[in-house]
Amino acid sequence: MLKLIPIPAFADNYLWMLHDGQRALVVDPGDAAPVLQVLKDQALQLESILVTHHHMDHTGGVAALREATGAQVYGPASEKIPAPYQPLREGDVVRSMNLDFTVLEVPGHTAGHIAFYAPEMNGRPLLFCGDTLFSGGCGRLFEGTPAQMLASLDKLAALPGQTCVCCTHEYTLSNLRFALAVEPDNADLVDYHAECVKLRMHEQPTLPTSIARELLINPFLRTRQATVKQAARHFDAAAHDDISVFAAIRQWKNQFK
Ligand code: ZN
Ligand code: FE
Repeated sequence: MLKLIPIPAFADNYLWMLHDGQRALVVDPGDAAPVLQVLKDQALQLESILVTHHHMDHTGGVAALREATGAQVYGPASEKIPAPYQPLREGDVVRSMNLDFTVLEVPGHTAGHIAFYAPEMNGRPLLFCGDTLFSGGCGRLFEGTPAQMLASLDKLAALPGQTCVCCTHEYTLSNLRFALAVEPDNADLVDYHAECVKLRMHEQPTLPTSIARELLINPFLRTRQATVKQAARHFDAAAHDDISVFAAIRQWKNQFK
């Protein structure tokens, strides 16, 4: 049985770790110290480091962890991350912890952003999606276009509903405040928000989430729903096709206070 744990770092990052009591894998270690602490406390050997994109809060601890543990690093072929590492493209497979992770290219937040998908981990599919999909939200478009991000989110939305989705930031409550502005009458969203408020009150993570849940509550996966389209047009009257509706919702979120 593998254990999946979110190691908190910085203000709101989670450095996801998978371990079997002996060996471990970590995703997007922006900081080495909290990972080294867990490795030491639980006497684990770090086997691999998966990197989704080049931002410092996802790569800052890669070199120190590799030096301390000799772990193999895997990352996007078209981004600059601390070398040496194994460069990955769409469809490549990373085998680690007896899991086969398929690489999905999901540009939008950054130009070369990738995600890692394993079809089965403890009975469910598993997704490490970096800063592409958040619970109730999605990453900002720093390097990609709305069309690219929409296509990337469509790719993730097509994964099995029960997929366990490991996002890299605890942005859920602020995302849900915005989601409620878009769809105030979405009963699933209202319930989920109440659930997350309780979790955060007890300083519990709201993650992982699932694809099925995000399809019910995340406005960025719901841009083809009539309610979301209508709300987008209040923000930008010219928002009609899928891409302009998505772009309007993203722009609205950027300005939302
Ligand atoms: Zn990022
Ligand atoms: Fe980030």
